[in-house]
Amino acid sequence: MPSILSYHRPQSLDEAQKLASQKNTFIIGGGTLVIPDVLSSPTKEAVIIDLQAVGLTGIFSELSGGQSSVKIGAMTRLSELIGNEKIPMIVHELSSKELPSTLRTQATIGGTIADRNGESILLSGFLALNAEIEINCETWIPLNQFLQSEPLEGIITALRFNIPTAESETSFHSVGRTPMDVPIVSGIGYAQSNGNLQVSLTGVSKIPVLVKSDDDIENLDPESDFRGSSAYRKHLASVIFSRITEEVQK
Ligand SMILES: Cc1cc2nc3c(=O)[nH]c(=O)nc-3n(C[C@H](O)[C@H](O)[C@H](O)COP(=O)(O)OP(=O)(O)OC[C@H]3O[C@@H](n4cnc5c(N)ncnc54)[C@H](O)[C@@H]3O)c2cc1C
Repeated sequence: MPSILSYHRPQSLDEAQKLASQKNTFIIGGGTLVIPDVLSSPTKEAVIIDLQAVGLTGIFSELSGGQSSVKIGAMTRLSELIGNEKIPMIVHELSSKELPSTLRTQATIGGTIADRNGESILLSGFLALNAEIEINCETWIPLNQFLQSEPLEGIITALRFNIPTAESETSFHSVGRTPMDVPIVSGIGYAQSNGNLQVSLTGVSKIPVLVKSDDDIENLDPESDFRGSSAYRKHLASVIFSRITEEVQK
C-alpha cells in the first residue's frame, strides 16, 4: 500500500510554507503528476500539501509604464487560459495543445512550471514571451533563470508576461508522429517590434530552451529516444527554426 501519512489543505500561504518545510512533504497543485508518482512508489512516505484553498487563482491584466502585461495565479487551471480574453492568441493556441482536455481542467500553472518538462509546449511559450515567476508572493525571477537553476525552495505563486504588441509576431511550428501527439520537437518564435527574434524549443533538452541562431542549435545535445535520435532532433530544430524565421520576417 502507498504510504500517504497525512493530507493538509492549508488556508493561507503562510500555513502552506510552514507545512512545506517539514520532512517528506509534497506540494500539489492539480496533483496530475505528484499523485500517480506517490501511488506508484509504495515505499515513499508522503505528506501531501494541497494548495487549492490558498487562493492563488485568477488571470489579471496589469498596466505599467505604458506596457500591458498579464498575471496568472499559480493555482489557475490550464483550461482557464483557453478562451480568456486577457490571454493573447499564441497562449490560447499553446494551452489547447498541452495535455488531454481532462487533465487540463486539473493541472495548474504552478505545477507546469515546477515540473520543468522539456516537452511542455505551454512552458516553452511562456519562456519565449520572457515570462517571470513569483516565489512566495515576494520575489520575481525570470522563468529562464528558474529553469536553469537548481530546484528552488518555496512556492510558486504567480507568473506574468508582457502582452506582445501589435507590431510583434509570434509563430508556432512542430513535428510529431501525429497531430495529437506530444511533438518530437516544437518551436515558438517571438519577434519583438525592435527586430529581436528568439525561439523557444521543446524536445531538445530536459527543459525548454531559447535559441537565437543556427549556432545555438548546433551547440544543443538532445537525448535520443524511440521517437528520434539526437541528430534527428537537431535537424528538426534547425528546420523549425528556419520556418519560424521565414514566417515572422515576411
Ligand atoms: C497521464 C498524464 C499525462 C501527462 N502528459 C503530459 C504531457 O503530455 N506533457 C507534459 O508536459 N506533462 C504531462 N504530464 C505531466 C503533468 O500533467 C503536467 O506537468 C502538469 O502541468 C502538472 O500540473 P499539476 O498542477 O497537476 O502538478 P502537480 O502534480 O500538482 O505538481 C507537479 C510538481 O510541481 C510541484 N508544484 C505544484 N504546484 C507548485 C507550486 N505552486 N509551487 C511549487 N511547486 C509546485 C509539485 O510539488 C510537483 O513537484 C502528464 C501527467 C499525467 C498524469
